[in-house]
Amino acid sequence: MCLHHGDTPIPTLTRTHELRADSSSHSPQSPPAFTARRLTGTTFHVTEVDDVYDEHPFIYAKLVPAAGTLLLLDTGCGGASRNPEAAFNRLRDYLERCPVTDNDGLPLNEGGKMEYVVVLSHCHYDHILGVEQFAEDSLILASGHDPAFLAPETLPQHSLCADLGIHAPSYRPVLLSHQAQITSRDRKTLGMTLLHTPGHTPDEVALWDEEEGMLYVGDTLYERAPIIFPSEGSIVKWLGTIDSLTALVTGCGPKGEYQV
Ligand SMILES: [Zn+2]
Repeated sequence: MCLHHGDTPIPTLTRTHELRADSSSHSPQSPPAFTARRLTGTTFHVTEVDDVYDEHPFIYAKLVPAAGTLLLLDTGCGGASRNPEAAFNRLRDYLERCPVTDNDGLPLNEGGKMEYVVVLSHCHYDHILGVEQFAEDSLILASGHDPAFLAPETLPQHSLCADLGIHAPSYRPVLLSHQAQITSRDRKTLGMTLLHTPGHTPDEVALWDEEEGMLYVGDTLYERAPIIFPSEGSIVKWLGTIDSLTALVTGCGPKGEYQV
């Protein structure tokens, strides 16, 4: 949600938080740093429970076993928890090892059997701080709307990591065009279309799951909070994006219903 554009104080990061990055010493009975619930037949909503930034970022995981792939929309804050006892405080560990009740008690990607395709809804820190856990062996996808905005030299500023005094993740995304179909490495469909939705930021994207009538919009819309426009945002472009998304989803989805 990127709360730190407004009046919300920026938390002070301490060595204690850094030391929490290793979950190996925690008891299996400790509460996990993430929770997951099933949204659709294929997709789970993963939430970071008590992150040190108070962002509680939303992450979406679409399981596509036929393509041997887990499609991940965003990587949240990566798992740094305020709870020193939290288990699975790396997103990838959570996905591969933590039982999920709504997934028949199995991890969403048990043992890392499926490869990952990671789509970043935009480059704000609370969507990318976990991306390095996937960057070495996975496809990382982002918007091709304004490539200069995602240049590595400007990422610390545009991700807001510089404002927080934290390291900006290192990754090299493949930049996709508007309405690109998301596929696995071997070009099998993952059932999602990427849409350029500038406004909150120039690189904001949405994912459209036409078959399931689901639109995943990143920070373009919040359910219970006002939209935030950083200095690189544009309310004029955002209004155009909302018109386009509304036209897209109206009357679509199973039984003519849709969800955002
Ligand atoms: Zn944002």
